[in-house]
Order: sequence, then C-alpha cells, then structure tokens
Amino acid sequence: MTGKDSARTRYEVAVIGGGFAGPLLAAVLARNGVRTLLVEGEEAPRFAVGESMVPYTAALARVVARRYGVPEVEHLTSLEGVRREVSSRCGVLRNMGFVHHRPHLRQHPGEIYQVVNPSVVPPVPHLFREDVDAHLLGVARRRGADVRTGSGARVEGIRIDPDTGVSLRTAAGEEFTAEYVVDAGGRHGPVAQELGLREEPAPARHHSRTLFTHMTGVTPYDATVAGRLHDQPSPWHQGTLHHVFDGGWLWVIPFDNHPRSTNSVCSVGLTLDARRHPARGLAPQEEFDRLLARFPDLAEQFRHAAPARPWTATGRLQYSSKRVVGDRYCLASHTAGFVDPLYSRGLAHSLEVVNALARRLIDAAHDGDWSTGRFQYVEDLQQALFDAHDDLVYASFVSFRDFELFNAVVRTWTVSTVLGALAVENACAAYGRSGDDAVFRDLEQTRHPGSPLPGSAHYNSLGPLTRTLCEEVEAGTRTPKEAADGIFDAIGRADYLPPSLGLGDPDDRFFHNTPARIARAARWVRTDAPDEIGALLKGAMGGLIRERLRGVRRPG
Ligand SMILES: Cc1cc2nc3c(=O)[nH]c(=O)nc-3n(C[C@H](O)[C@H](O)[C@H](O)COP(=O)(O)OP(=O)(O)OC[C@H]3O[C@@H](n4cnc5c(N)ncnc54)[C@H](O)[C@@H]3O)c2cc1C
Repeated sequence: MTGKDSARTRYEVAVIGGGFAGPLLAAVLARNGVRTLLVEGEEAPRFAVGESMVPYTAALARVVARRYGVPEVEHLTSLEGVRREVSSRCGVLRNMGFVHHRPHLRQHPGEIYQVVNPSVVPPVPHLFREDVDAHLLGVARRRGADVRTGSGARVEGIRIDPDTGVSLRTAAGEEFTAEYVVDAGGRHGPVAQELGLREEPAPARHHSRTLFTHMTGVTPYDATVAGRLHDQPSPWHQGTLHHVFDGGWLWVIPFDNHPRSTNSVCSVGLTLDARRHPARGLAPQEEFDRLLARFPDLAEQFRHAAPARPWTATGRLQYSSKRVVGDRYCLASHTAGFVDPLYSRGLAHSLEVVNALARRLIDAAHDGDWSTGRFQYVEDLQQALFDAHDDLVYASFVSFRDFELFNAVVRTWTVSTVLGALAVENACAAYGRSGDDAVFRDLEQTRHPGSPLPGSAHYNSLGPLTRTLCEEVEAGTRTPKEAADGIFDAIGRADYLPPSLGLGDPDDRFFHNTPARIARAARWVRTDAPDEIGALLKGAMGGLIRERLRGVRRPG
C-alpha cells in the first residue's frame, strides 16, 4: 500500500507504539482480518528494557501464538526458537535467583533463594529487545498491518469522537482515521497524555526509581568469592539474578550466558526506594559505584564491568491511569501503568492484555460495534494486575531489610508465578484438544481477573495478607519474624499446593522440581488435591508432557 493510499484508508484499529505490545497486537489483528495501522515514532534499532522472561510469560506467548494463528510469536517462547528464528543475541533464563546482602558485610551464604525452571519446559530466553521488537514489527508487517516507523510517524495529535471514531496526526503531518485506537506507547503514550488519564500522583503503595544500562565485563556471580560458597541447584549466571538489600535491588540479566550467544553484554539495573534514596543529582555511574562501595560482594562482580551504552536514569517509576478503557480507546498494559521491574511481570502483563483485547477487537471489527462496554473486562484485568503487583512489590521492598521476611514474601510471588504458568498451560492444553475459543472466554467469567485460581478464597487473599503483614512491619506494630511466620503459616494451610514442593518450608530455599518431587506431586494430584487445583495440575502436566514429546519429535 502506498503512503497516499494508506492515508485514505480508514483503519479499523490504529495501534500506537512499536515496542513489544504494539507490534504483537497489530500482528494478531491483521492476521485475523482487521484493517490495522501501527505507528512507531522512532527508527530501529531502539534500545528497550523488558528483557527477562519467565516461564509464565512464555506460556502466555504460546497461547497468543496458537489462539490467534501467529506462530512467529511462539519463536519467542524458547531459547532455541529465538536463536534460530529471531536473534543470536538473546541469553538464556534457567532460573530466577535472589541473593540477599547487608551493607558493609560479607554476604551470608544461607541468605539466597532460587526458583529453577522445570526441566519439562524448554529453557526460555532473555530477550535482547532491540532484535525482538524488530522481529515483531516485521511479523506485523508481513501479517498485513500497515506499519509506519521513524520520527515522522510520531503521533502528535489525536481526536476521538465516541460516535465517529479516531483521527491521528503524525509529526510528518499525515492524518489517519480509525474506528478504534490502542495506545501502546508506554509511559508517554499519547492517548493517555491527551485525555489526561494519568493519576497524579500515582496512588501505588510502592515508590521506586531506577538506573540501568548494558555492561560488558560483568563477572558471573558464581565465580565470585561469595558465589562459590553457594549451594543453589542452578548457576546464578544461567538466569536473572536479583541482588536484594534494604532499600532496593539490582538486576543482572546476561545475554552472554550460553555458548551460541553472539552477545557480550549483560543488562544491569539498580532500583531504589525513591523515598529513602532520593536522587541527589549524581551521575548514574557515580551512584552505582557508591552502591558497590557499600556491598563488598557486589563490588567483586562488577570490578571489570563497563557500560556498553549510556545509563538511563528515571524519576519515580510508578504511574497509573484513572481509566484504561474508554470510548474508542484502550491503553495497553505498560501504557496503562507500571509498578516495578521486580519479578519480571511487565511482558507477561502485556501478553495477558493482548490476549484479552485482541479477541474483543476482532469481534468488534466483525460486528461493526465498538461500544465501550465490550472492553470492560480489559479494564478490570489491567487494574487487577496492577494492584496485585503493587501489593507484592511493596511487600518485597519492606522485606528486603530482613532475609527471614524476604524468604517468606518471595514465596507469595513463587506461588503466583508457578500457579499462573500452570493455569495458562492448562488452558493451552485444553485449547489444543478442543480448538474451542470458549476455553479462554470461560476463564474471563470471574470476580478475580488474572487469578490462576479464581475459585480459591485462600489463594486470592494471600497477596493482600502478605501486603498487610508488611505494612504492619513498616508501621512498627509487627516484627519481621512475626510477619514471616504469618506468611509461612498461610502458605502451610494452602490446600492447593502439593506439599512435596516445599513452598511452606522456610529451610527449603530452592524451588527445584526434581523428577522425584514431580512424581510425589502427581501422586498428590491423584489422591488428595481439591477439585479446582487437581484439574488444573492434571491438565497442565499432561499438556507440558505432550509439548515436550512434540518438541523431541519435531525435526531439526
Ligand atoms: C526499568 C524497567 C525494566 C523492566 N524489566 C522488565 C523485565 O525484565 N521483564 C519484563 O517482563 N518486563 C520488564 N519491564 C516492563 C517492560 O519493559 C514492558 O512491559 C514492555 O516493554 C512492554 O512494552 P510496550 O510495548 O507496552 O512499551 P514500550 O516497550 O515502552 O514501547 C513503547 C513504544 O511506543 C513508542 N511511542 C511512544 N510514544 C509514541 C508516539 N507518540 N507515537 C508513536 N510511537 C510512540 C516508543 O518509541 C516505544 O517504541 C521493565 C520496565 C522498566 C521500566
């Protein structure tokens, strides 16, 4: 389509933003017959963060790929797929690791925690976003979306008329019209700005700011003096490593951690409680160096490290929106709001939202009915995801002061990410058997959008309980030990967790599903598990085993 033709075209959906969510959504829509425009206001290559992808994220990407018939998205779900089809510059994530530090002291070897990906799931990638976003833009284009990129395509003006639709004006002066607009422009998304949708100040409990870059010369933590004393099952450098300390945390996301990687950098970022560590106008490198001076075992890991690109430093990271869905528009995930990179939830949220939103947009285009009520679930989902993550991150930051408490709070996250992944695997397996889209629609009939166990009052109160206990610690009305005991007690009473997984045992600091543990969990599913979780685990485990066998049989 030439520029002139497309300027005359009335699109059904205009998507703003060519990061991760925008091209993904545009590809899905175009593949399903929706006339789609995608505009990205910067030229490639574009640096972006959002690099750590957990199995939960990979499972959601597989759902989007299969439900909407875009197999190119499935390449992102495994290291092998990414390496073969997308980029050799991605790393591997075999575990999520946490090392607790105290200022000016040697790291205590017992104060560590690790979640190891189950061997039945293929290793997932650390996404080198520059290449991944370019891949997704290409997919959107090949699937039939009209894609515009570069400074001229930056959206500078938006008019929304609830009755007639949307018109966009770009920096180059082109005008585009559409029935509906999705803003996937991130923090500065133009619809959010133009309609004044941001909550000021953001009401999130959590306050943080961050500085990040890519670095060369980062020593694998396993090779440091402290790292050599650890007994965790999977090497730290084979996953996303979180160094946590009172007042903040630091991520290390290696792209150089498998033999076929052609990338020598690690993503490194420091996230600090913005109230306790306000920005004082220091250069980011100086602030980073001052942090290293406080933590001797961190300093060793970065002794030979140097930034491979300029640092990015932000103000307060949290932002949110009064509404994320309105007449003829939706803000998608990272545009709707953001809490903190802790636990790598951002890409998963993007995929959850694309999954829920795409179905509604395809149906709306088919029916010619764009009424706002059709999108209410997407509003509820995004607000629920934001609140749950805010609770968890807030509680985690409180817990960083005391390993015993962190060791408890991190279990609440483990429960949510493991059950989240299993619920998605279960749905994916059910869809694989029936091909019936009702599998996904039924999941949306719930008072707890985004919850893996909507029927379990206990599960759905675990996050709020964890947050409340940590609020009491912060207020000084409860000790960290009491709060930790309260969380472990709640997890110990969770009848939906196979006891063999050890989640309620403070001394069991590695969530590592050996074949023996899985066999015991399978026995529990057959004999003792309550109905909802029993069916979920049975479906998910069966699906994962079938996937594994398919993978083994697949040629090449
Ligand atoms: C510091 C940090 C670390 C993170 N780490 C992780 C992680 O490890 N794992 C994880 O899962 N998530 C992480 N996230 C979240 C993750 O970055 C986002 O979920 C993810 O990038 C979602 O992408 P997006 O496409 O919605 O937005 P973005 O990636 O922000 O892309 C938005 C795009 O819109 C374009 N744009 C903006 N305005 C306009 C306009 N007016 N016209 C045209 N184009 C426009 C921009 O140029 C940009 O390309 C992190 C976030 C932050 C802030």
